[in-house]
Amino acid sequence: MIGVAKDEEELLTEMKRLSEVDPKAVEYHLAQGHIRAWLDYIGRGDLASLLSDVKSLADAVKLLSDAMLGWDSELTCPGCGFKGKVRDFKLLRPPWYFGKYLGRSLQCPRCGLKFRYFYPLAQGGKPYTVPKGKGM
Ligand SMILES: [Zn+2]
Repeated sequence: MIGVAKDEEELLTEMKRLSEVDPKAVEYHLAQGHIRAWLDYIGRGDLASLLSDVKSLADAVKLLSDAMLGWDSELTCPGCGFKGKVRDFKLLRPPWYFGKYLGRSLQCPRCGLKFRYFYPLAQGGKPYTVPKGKGM
């Protein structure tokens, strides 16, 4: 199953689908570390490390879904104003939960500034950076 996925989004889609039709198969791959190894292989070691303490398939799907939130969102560097997508910034460590937000520690590819970016887990919140950008 994991050989079929092209990227982390496809993996998640496949995990969700299989968790309904054949959860034992996904649990097997999780327990054997196949999914973590594959995520490492495609350069998403941050997602792989999130799975290290996961006990159940439902937890794994939830954690991966949350950790992918906002990955394609537009983001402006609070230091130099560089505009890109979240995925264009360097992720310094795995994302974490911060209240109703997902926190990410990022580094700007242009000016090298390290900052935190918080993305709302639920509708209604707005993403924000720490420190705040100029004019935000
Ligand atoms: Zn910058």
